[in-house]
Amino acid sequence: MPPPASATVTYHFWIGFYNHGSVVSHCDVSPKPISEIVMPLHMIPPTRRRFLQTTLVGGAAWLAPRYTGAAEFKPSDEWWALLSDPHIDADPKKSARGITMLDCLNRIIDEVLAEPSPPAGVIINGDCAFLRGLAEDYATLSTALQRFADADLPVHMTMGNHDDRGPFYDAFASQRADNPLVDGKHVSILSTPTTTLFLMDSLWEVNKVTGELGQPQLDWLASALDAHAEKPAIVIGHHNLQFLPKESQATISGLRDSQKLVDLLNARSHVQAYIFGHTHHWNVIEKHDEVNLVNLPACSYVFNPAHPNGWVKAQFGADQFALELRALDHAHPQHGEKHKLRYTLTANAR
Ligand SMILES: [Zn+2]
Repeated sequence: MPPPASATVTYHFWIGFYNHGSVVSHCDVSPKPISEIVMPLHMIPPTRRRFLQTTLVGGAAWLAPRYTGAAEFKPSDEWWALLSDPHIDADPKKSARGITMLDCLNRIIDEVLAEPSPPAGVIINGDCAFLRGLAEDYATLSTALQRFADADLPVHMTMGNHDDRGPFYDAFASQRADNPLVDGKHVSILSTPTTTLFLMDSLWEVNKVTGELGQPQLDWLASALDAHAEKPAIVIGHHNLQFLPKESQATISGLRDSQKLVDLLNARSHVQAYIFGHTHHWNVIEKHDEVNLVNLPACSYVFNPAHPNGWVKAQFGADQFALELRALDHAHPQHGEKHKLRYTLTANAR
């Protein structure tokens, strides 16, 4: 099934404005002031696109309305919607483990749009497609996400093990960088007023559970983190950390270069957290001498029926970030669970 004509036209039209965003070039990881915020224009909402056409010329100035007169909220109120593992199939009615994935995503979109103020952006942290990252899956997903675009909300997506970059870029042309920060990987840097977010790509092989960043991406991340050390940093990728004994023959279901990543993060005192999905298990581990670990819930099915599915409302503040679980089952005992993770690591060099 080809993508709906409307979605195809819309997303291909948006790519024309991608160059106006301040996508960091391949070798440019130098710190930028807030006026030159590094933010790839991932799904540019139509109204913002119109704003660009009429008011802004190049650079990252498109962020201006969010923080100045046109904004309906103050930077201190800024929040982000964190989603993971929607697993959208071509078939809108497709179910797995007792739930219909698109229904779950649509309910989450309803909830995000019903919030008193709009989020600064939406991040979908991988496994956007059901299993094999098919063009038809992304067509259904793009139709669902159009509601975010219609509401003027930027959407940023990362690659999970059930995604495939080629069909993904075909469906979401605005997500493709003209000059990728890391060859063959879908990575980006988002700058909030207080925090820099690094979106990583841990897709190793499509529909194989194991994840990998790879040395080139790790090297880039190290350089990029060093170049953006002026603000707290949070790294976001699909796969969980996993550490197996060297002699273990077990299949690695998480990130196969976990140790390299965690060493890299822990060596930099401004890195506050690693946020991931993949396990479909909401869990927050606050650490005091290493990066905090945040396992986002799945938008879709869970592997343990006791675990909640849903999304997370996140606020990246000046000295902490706050997380609130929004379970789809509002009667779930963890619905509304809040965590405040203080940015203590910057002051306490390791
Ligand atoms: Zn998943």
